Amino acid sequence: MSIAENVAAIRRELEKAALAAGRDPKEIQLCAATKMNDAEAVRQAIAAGVDCCGENRVQELTQKLAQHAYDGAPVHFIGHLQTNKVKQVVGKVALIQSVDSLRLLCAIDAEARKQGIVQDILLEINIGQEESKSGFREEEILPLLEKIGDFPNICVKGLMAIPPISQNSGDNLKYFQKISHLSVDIKAKKYDNVTVKCLSMGMSGDYQDAIRCGSTMIRIGTAIFGARDYAKIHQR
Ligand SMILES: *Cc1c(COP(=O)(O)O)cnc(C)c1O
Repeated sequence: MSIAENVAAIRRELEKAALAAGRDPKEIQLCAATKMNDAEAVRQAIAAGVDCCGENRVQELTQKLAQHAYDGAPVHFIGHLQTNKVKQVVGKVALIQSVDSLRLLCAIDAEARKQGIVQDILLEINIGQEESKSGFREEEILPLLEKIGDFPNICVKGLMAIPPISQNSGDNLKYFQKISHLSVDIKAKKYDNVTVKCLSMGMSGDYQDAIRCGSTMIRIGTAIFGARDYAKIHQR
């Protein structure tokens, strides 16, 4: 199947899942997770109508920006970002979804201040409390948001989560529900510079469940572009 056909198929599934959950499909954005796919593939996904692109690696972002690969759609950063690379990302992307530590948050705020801009971000939650993964713990979020006014050059737009790799469909429902509950808790308080309009959760294998639990942004790689060639990673 072509990229266009894959995007159309995901749109249909997205709509089905939204309607089954009593939700308006229009409130759910489709983000193409473009890692390891080249500029031409990205252009095809944008032509097929994805709402935005998500890039994981700074090097790929920089290269594809230079190639004007994302023209016509906003680009987001969705991978682990090292603090020494924030300069290459802040102001270059519409949204940094993967803010996974206070240290990174401080670095983004400082760089945004230098550039005289406000950078939109999501807070990434390590929802499965996995050692191997970065991200805030659930219980860290409300205390952090209490102090978010100290960072005037970032604006928190919501939460992002990557649950543990699951074996069975339905395994991730409990994690998606946790994120959804956390977003309700955040909305109940009124923090400066914080909205929780965006809940970025759900990937190729579990986006229907994420939509059931209130996801407003699904990040899809494999189901759009096909399986990634992981041999390429080892060449780096
Ligand atoms: C790769 C990636 C995705 C997409 O994963 P698929 O299973 O290929 O759909 C989503 N989010 C992040 C952060 C990713 O790195």
